[in-house]
Amino acid sequence: MATYEYRCPRHGAFEVRLRIGEASASVPCGTCGGQAARIYSAPGLAVTPRPLARALDRAARTAETPDVVTRIPGRRPARRR
Ligand SMILES: [Zn+2]
Repeated sequence: MATYEYRCPRHGAFEVRLRIGEASASVPCGTCGGQAARIYSAPGLAVTPRPLARALDRAARTAETPDVVTRIPGRRPARRR
């Protein structure tokens, strides 16, 4: 047996105990009999939050090509006058 979470639009989340593999995408709500959609909360579905991913991405890019100093001072091609 496993516990699955479903959410009724009117009555909120509730748990249903079913045999593994028998959980359907929706079950009737125990209170109103309406369709309650399954909530997928498996730990494996967690992904890196987008802002964090963006920050890590930017940090990695900055390490490769710093955008503050783009050339060594004094190494600019000498301009003839
Ligand atoms: Zn309900």
